[in-house]
Amino acid sequence: MARREAPAAGPGSRALIVDVIRSAVTISRGELVDLTGLTQPSISNIVRELIADGIIHEIGSLDSVHGRPRKLIAINPASRFGIGFHLGPETVTCVAVDLTGGVVGREVVPRAPGQAWRGEGLADRFEHFTAGLDLPRGRIEGLAIVGPGDLPSGVRPELADRIGVPVLVENDAAAAALGEFWSRRVSREQAFGCLYLGSGIGAGLVFGGALFRGASFGAGEFGHISIDHAGRACPCGNRGCVQQYASMPATVRAAREIPELRARLALDGSESGAYEAIARAAVNGDTAAYAVLDQAAAWLGVAATSVVNLLDLGRLVLTGPGVALAGSIFARRLRTHLDGTAYSRHRHSVSVEISAQPRDAAGIGAAVLVIQAAVAPGHTPGRSS
Ligand SMILES: [Zn+2]
Repeated sequence: MARREAPAAGPGSRALIVDVIRSAVTISRGELVDLTGLTQPSISNIVRELIADGIIHEIGSLDSVHGRPRKLIAINPASRFGIGFHLGPETVTCVAVDLTGGVVGREVVPRAPGQAWRGEGLADRFEHFTAGLDLPRGRIEGLAIVGPGDLPSGVRPELADRIGVPVLVENDAAAAALGEFWSRRVSREQAFGCLYLGSGIGAGLVFGGALFRGASFGAGEFGHISIDHAGRACPCGNRGCVQQYASMPATVRAAREIPELRARLALDGSESGAYEAIARAAVNGDTAAYAVLDQAAAWLGVAATSVVNLLDLGRLVLTGPGVALAGSIFARRLRTHLDGTAYSRHRHSVSVEISAQPRDAAGIGAAVLVIQAAVAPGHTPGRSS
C-alpha cells in the first residue's frame, strides 16, 4: 500500500494546528495527525509547546472503541486576551475577547464631536478599559483598531509605545470577517466571506484561515461592484456601484423619496435614526418600509452572486449596523437569490447567516485579529501603518 507522504512541519504548522483545534472544539492528537497530514512526532512537539505556552490544555479523556483512553485537547480560553477598538463617527466601541473569540468585556463611550484620534487619548482609553475588566496585564496580547479610514500618521507607533503591546490597524469589514470566522469555529477549508453593511458596504474574505488583503490592503470593496453600467454615479468614478443602492444612506434616501413613509416614520432626523426607524417598521409589518429594505436586499443579492461566483464561496455572513434590526430581510432575499443564481448551486449550497452581534462585529473582529496574530501567526500579516 502506498504510504502517504507527510508534509514536514514548517513555520505555518503551529498556526495550522491552532486553527484545527479551534474549529474542532476538542480533538485528540491522532485526529490532528489525520486532519493536518503532519507526522505524529511533529504534532507531539507542537502540542507540547502549545500546552507549555498555555494556549491549549488537556481536558480529560474519552474511552476509544479499543478501551484505551484518548486525551483530548482544546483551546484554553482565558490564557490570552485581545482588545479591539471600533472608532465610529459618534462612539468608540471597546471589546475584549478570549482565545476562542468569546467576548469578555464591552464598553461603548461617546466621542466628542470633531475630536481627533490621538495616541495619548487612545492609550488612556485602553488603560481605562483594561483596568475596568481586571484582565491580567501579561495576558493582553495587543490592541487592534478599526475605524473610518486610516489613523493619522504617527498615531499607531506612539500608541504602541505608550501601552507597551502591539497595535494593529484594520478595516471594519475585514476585521468583522475574521471575528466571525474565529468565533463561529469556521474550518480553514471553507472559503468564507462576510458582508458588512454600514455607511458603505465592505466584504471581508478568509481563505485558508487567513484574511485576503489584496495588493495594497484594499481587498473587499464590495460596495463598488457595479450592478448597472449606466446606473447611479458613484464618487469612485464608476456607475451603478451597489452601495449607491443598498447601503444604509441609500436605503434612507429611497425611503425619504416616499412622502407618506417619510412623514409617517419621521425620517427627517439623523441618517442613523432614520435607518433604524425604517428597519424597525419593516420587521413590525410595515409593508412600505419592508419593500424599501427588500429592494435594497435584492440589489445586494445581484452583487453577492458575482462575488460568490468569482470566489466559489461556501458561506456568507451578513453583519454591520445595517443588519442589526432587519438582518432577516436581507438574509431571506440573499438566500433566495443565491439559490437560483449561484453558479456552484448544483455542487454545493451557499449558506447565508446573520451575525449574532452585528453592531459590535468590527470591534470583536479587531480583538480577534490580535488573538490570531498572537497564537496563530504567519498567515494574516497586519498593516504596518
Ligand atoms: Zn463606486
